[in-house]
Amino acid sequence: MNAPQQPVLTAATTEFMARHNHRMLIGGQWVASSNGQTLEVLNPADESLLATVPAATEADVDRAVQAARQAFEAPGWAKMRPDQRQRLLLRLADLIEANARTLAEIESLDNGKSVAIAEAVDVALSASYFRYMAGWSTKIEGSTLDVSIPFAPQNEFVGYTRKEPVGVVGAIVAWNFPLLLASWKLAPALATGCTVVLKPAEQTPLSALYLAELVLQAGFPEGVVNVVTGDGPSVGAPLTRHPGVNKLTFTGSTEVGKLIGKAAMDNMTRITLELGGKSPVIVLEDCDPAVAAGGAAQAIYFNQGQVCCAGSRLYVHKKNYDRVVADLADHANALTIGHGMDPSVQLGPLVSREQLDRVCGYIDIGRQQGAEVVAGGGRAGDKGYFVKPTVLAKVDQKARVVQEEIFGPVVVAMPYDDLEQVAAWANDTPFGLGASIWSNDLSRVHRLIPKIKSGTVWVNCHNMLDPALPFGGYKQSGFGKEMGRAALDAYLEQKSVLMMV
Ligand code: ADP
Repeated sequence: MNAPQQPVLTAATTEFMARHNHRMLIGGQWVASSNGQTLEVLNPADESLLATVPAATEADVDRAVQAARQAFEAPGWAKMRPDQRQRLLLRLADLIEANARTLAEIESLDNGKSVAIAEAVDVALSASYFRYMAGWSTKIEGSTLDVSIPFAPQNEFVGYTRKEPVGVVGAIVAWNFPLLLASWKLAPALATGCTVVLKPAEQTPLSALYLAELVLQAGFPEGVVNVVTGDGPSVGAPLTRHPGVNKLTFTGSTEVGKLIGKAAMDNMTRITLELGGKSPVIVLEDCDPAVAAGGAAQAIYFNQGQVCCAGSRLYVHKKNYDRVVADLADHANALTIGHGMDPSVQLGPLVSREQLDRVCGYIDIGRQQGAEVVAGGGRAGDKGYFVKPTVLAKVDQKARVVQEEIFGPVVVAMPYDDLEQVAAWANDTPFGLGASIWSNDLSRVHRLIPKIKSGTVWVNCHNMLDPALPFGGYKQSGFGKEMGRAALDAYLEQKSVLMMV
């Protein structure tokens, strides 16, 4: 493991981190929690205290929802022309780019991920998503229809539909891509004219607070974006059941997603859920084993495996199984583990002690259920939340490590005989977020794609996302889509108008 180095930070990061006791944003004001309580934010690479943030109360959540409601109805936002919203979103994208290194550093310190990857992936995708959604601001449209009402044949009608912003959005996000997940929620909400109360994960609230500063700098009216910090039960749950919230959008575990879904129904709050996954990587017979092993390594070890669509199950045709697994183990063993601020590091720490214990616990369960550990197999070092990139081989399809989401750098590898069998196994978990197929055999690939029950199927790549391509789950991976036009619709109500003329 690489020894920690003293990171060289931008002046803006240094200034932001030196504040130590951060405030949250409600109605354009930076405020402490109403009862003065705070939450500690730790650096997962060395377990040191990075900062504190307000531990918001239910009263704070209520104030944030009210501020968002006022902003939603105030002429400054409600009557803003779509091209002006577009301009604000473009300005925000520019500010994200201008602050790319700072945002990446904050993300790396808070989450543990590599600063280089944070800049190239998390920050770049966030800016690109705000730009993509900015374009939609001026393209929200209904349709006109010729109606045929059978019981009023003598009358003439004009029928049309119009799209309207759904209102106040409660957005609750996880800690694996803090900035990017916040952007996935904010961009479509703002493009459609909604207002937002954002709750970042308690482990990683810092980049959302920095982003909120950029939102104000971009010129969004006060109260359009509010950020409340704190944990799930005391901040997320009150936001979920608040009657003033018109739409909830959540990224996180399936378990919490179900709680949020049930709470949402009490108020008929609109809801989008992007939940867990156990995505298969399917290597067909013709695939070069070296390509498959490299692809499989990227699919699982990217972001320390803390990716909802991580390629956490590897199915290799039996002909090439041993070779691909051996190469994958070599890739795993070659990864440089260390502090995310070190530019040579490829695998940072997990986000928290809880995650460290959970992932190591799953590795032990795998062993107990007969898995062969061919790489990694436990914690790396004794300071910071590092886990060795792990490969578990020849695991039974029904084993817990095959069926349950681990959310760490652990892949299970199984050999298969034929296409029918691998399709059945690929679908044999409660999840359906992503899958990848590795092959140049076009007819086999095309036969397999419709059989896979997941929201995304990649071919010869994995974890590739684009703002224009809808992303979301089948089965218990959630419902509703992020990105693309589909995401926009999730923030709009459709009104039908029928006029007798
Ligand atoms: P993970 O398992 O990846 O930590 P969670 O699903 O627990 O993810 O958390 C994702 C987000 O959901 C976080 O912002 C967390 O605070 C929030 N959360 C957790 N529990 C609840 C809850 N009961 N109601 C609303 N939000 C919650």
